Amino acid sequence: MQAWVIGNWKQNPATSHDVNALLDDLLSAVSEKQGSDAAGCQLMVAPSCIHIAAVSDRLKGSSVLSAAQDISAYSASTGAYTGDCSAQQIADAGATWTILGHSERRQYHQESHDCLLQKMTHALAQNLGVVFCIGETQAQYDAKETLAVIDVQLSVIKDLLAQNPKLAKDLSARLIIAYEPVWAIGTGKVPTVAEVSATHQHIKQTLTGFNSELDNMTVLYGGSVNADNADSFAADSMIDGALVGGASLKAESFLAIAHAFSRAMA
Ligand code: PEP
Repeated sequence: MQAWVIGNWKQNPATSHDVNALLDDLLSAVSEKQGSDAAGCQLMVAPSCIHIAAVSDRLKGSSVLSAAQDISAYSASTGAYTGDCSAQQIADAGATWTILGHSERRQYHQESHDCLLQKMTHALAQNLGVVFCIGETQAQYDAKETLAVIDVQLSVIKDLLAQNPKLAKDLSARLIIAYEPVWAIGTGKVPTVAEVSATHQHIKQTLTGFNSELDNMTVLYGGSVNADNADSFAADSMIDGALVGGASLKAESFLAIAHAFSRAMA
């Protein structure tokens, strides 16, 4: 199984100039490292919607994939949905994946179970892979509700399969779960590796329980991963990679995280 290290650029960088500077750094470091310790780790970046076409174009021919951070819930293609970008438009712009259900979308845009089920259906219908984010808040963690919260969030996948059981066969190649405790995102606080490992084990077992075809799902950890702590997460066999926010905005720290996972996979 290969590791995945995915950069969520959120609403950054501010200008096309800065996007290009980040890509310059990333692409020159990736081409220097090709065949060395960057191998064995699939890299992906998720820029803002406005930058997806330009970023995807520049990544063509490289080993780095591009993803959206979100897609429209209302239509997979076109319609009167001001401000939305559809899965078809994202795919046409050159991205091959989309993040869905990030805690910032759940918090600021009130994304519900039904909304995420719609988005996931649209993404898969347009052949976009999905990085599905789940995770508990600080209060839920303190109340030891992590697994219960995750079970509710994962039920989107159960419902997706109930609607279309044929999806199960290909889902392990088209769906990645990112476990991101909300309290660890952008805070510098991280759960212990043992806690993440146990939660990932629960996620993997739950998915296999939905359908035996989902017995090999990729589960990433996200939340304040950086160049200094990446090795400890990478060393655990339940952690298949990382979803990285802040540290993905510098090529050096993003690639240091990728190298930690590559070394662990070797
Ligand atoms: C994220 O937003 O998905 C994330 C993991 O952010 P950070 O790495 O900055 O905590």
